[in-house]
Amino acid sequence: MIRFEQVSKVYPDGTTAVDGLSFEVSEGELVTLVGPSGCGKTTTMMMVNRLIEPTSGRILVDGEDISAVDPVKLRRRIGYVIQQVGLFPHRTVLDNTATVPSLIGWKKAKARARAAELLDLVGLDPGTYGPRYPAQLSGGQRQRVGVARALAADPPVLLMDEPFGAVDPVVRERLQNEFLNLQATVRKTVLLVTHDIEEAVRMGDRIAVYGQGRIEQFDTPGAVLGAPATDYVAQFVGADRGLKRLSVTRIEAADLEQPPVARLDEPAGEATARLRAGNAGWAVVLGAAGDLHGWVSADALSTAGEQGTVGELARRMEAWVPLGAPLKQAFSEMLQHDAGWVAVVDGSRFAGVLTPAKLHEALRRSVDADARGVGRDEVDFDSVADA
Ligand code: ADP
Ligand code: MG
Repeated sequence: MIRFEQVSKVYPDGTTAVDGLSFEVSEGELVTLVGPSGCGKTTTMMMVNRLIEPTSGRILVDGEDISAVDPVKLRRRIGYVIQQVGLFPHRTVLDNTATVPSLIGWKKAKARARAAELLDLVGLDPGTYGPRYPAQLSGGQRQRVGVARALAADPPVLLMDEPFGAVDPVVRERLQNEFLNLQATVRKTVLLVTHDIEEAVRMGDRIAVYGQGRIEQFDTPGAVLGAPATDYVAQFVGADRGLKRLSVTRIEAADLEQPPVARLDEPAGEATARLRAGNAGWAVVLGAAGDLHGWVSADALSTAGEQGTVGELARRMEAWVPLGAPLKQAFSEMLQHDAGWVAVVDGSRFAGVLTPAKLHEALRRSVDADARGVGRDEVDFDSVADA
């Protein structure tokens, strides 16, 4: 969808901002450009909507060499969100959002209806916020208006330059999540610039790590964190890249252990005998449909009288996470509940438990899988352990 072919930009004062850049962003993909200040990220982005012209090389958008496209027409197909937002201070939020549809000649009523729809989409009630002026909004709300405005004419491509840089960390994380939810619906082709590696790995389907005017590595967040291509990338992603990987590695069924289970309506005596035979200290307690109810210890079971059922002795399950959640979420649940394991559910069905050892194994397996470009289930853990 966006393709750079050997693109360079040398500014008139001789500064080489971008040096022989080649990469491609697929349709519907979100690529983050990350690197320290001054490495050429903004220059890269502004060449896509022709606010800056390359010195050499070609840029194609949707297969078309953009040097032959009228810049004004080009920009109608490309939404642009910047950190300073750039809202018009004397226009209402609704009119700000309707800017591009109005520019391209939509009737006023239609443009405003579209603007209201977009404000709603970014979580701002159009009745409340539409009539306000930008100064009457918080930083986070202004940023949402910026996103709504960029999407108003439904462009297939979205450029975002440090879009969440001006807000505090709590609001930033909320805006990031909101945008990811939005992106899951609108599926734009997005180039997002940031200097923050955490933001880059959280947001990007793939990330481009910039050195000076060049891409040092272009890969999935997991691969960049797990197998940095150069010393520079390793240093940039940080010594805690193993920890960062916890947020981008997801729990798979193969990572789980299957502990003993007991049924809610099962006689306690039967469950006790089974646990004893298996030398187990506890069991996961499930309802009739395999739904997760809680857990029970062998000690508690052994205190039950003749008539007792497992259900009467079961404790509520406090630490649980869905299959597919990041390993970080499971780890955080374990720490929060001071638990040695966390239950994993698939919908409402119990799928197994994740233990610290299994979590560590999953992490190492995924590093190895990324390095070899194969699925995690294709990695034999013994080979990783021996390596
Ligand atoms: P980033 O967005 O990664 O911080 P930029 O693309 O803004 O980096 O800048 C890349 C390099 O180009 C920097 O060294 C910057 O000082 C330089 N630069 C940016 N704009 C100009 C300009 N108009 N004239 C000269 N040098 C520029
Ligand atoms: Mg910049």
